[in-house]
Amino acid sequence: MPQPEARPAVLDLFRSTGAYLSGHFRLTSGLHSPAYLQCARVLQHPRNAEDLGSRLAQAIAALVQLEPVDVVASPAIGGLIIGHEVARALGTRFIFAERDTSGKMTLRRGFEVTPGETAVVVEDVITTGGSTREVIESLRARGARVLAAGSIIDRSGGKVDLGVSRAALDTLVVDSYPPESCPLCAQGIPVVKPGSRAV
Ligand SMILES: [Zn+2]
Repeated sequence: MPQPEARPAVLDLFRSTGAYLSGHFRLTSGLHSPAYLQCARVLQHPRNAEDLGSRLAQAIAALVQLEPVDVVASPAIGGLIIGHEVARALGTRFIFAERDTSGKMTLRRGFEVTPGETAVVVEDVITTGGSTREVIESLRARGARVLAAGSIIDRSGGKVDLGVSRAALDTLVVDSYPPESCPLCAQGIPVVKPGSRAV
């Protein structure tokens, strides 16, 4: 049996793999922030991915009160690895949505969802919940019943409401600002888009 007490805290895993960055960052949401979580650095170690996926699957199973889940779906690219590992732990299939040329988050590659299937949506980090919300909508448009959403980290401090139950393994409360009222911009500190350079 897994022993949760023997597992390192989630944010400690981020720190020990250099995935918790400090500076001045432009998030995918467009907001600026003094901290960034580079999840790919934690998940580059398959053992961490499997461990986090298993923990998140347990949290989601508790949330949906063990109602069977047919499919796990994630927004590409951020949700791919963790969604895959959650699906492995839940014993379901895994599909992903990606942006088409018009910028709309859609299921492609022949992925199918049967009306009435139950789904959960998994992302690496939820900040505004925008990508997860789009995947929920695309699943519903195909008749799926979305039971819950999950992420490794909740950066919204619990504020994001997706209209479904939501699980996260840890919460990181760091200020984020619209560019026009960003104090780091006001100090003239150059803003970095994470992943655009070596760190
Ligand atoms: Zn800024």
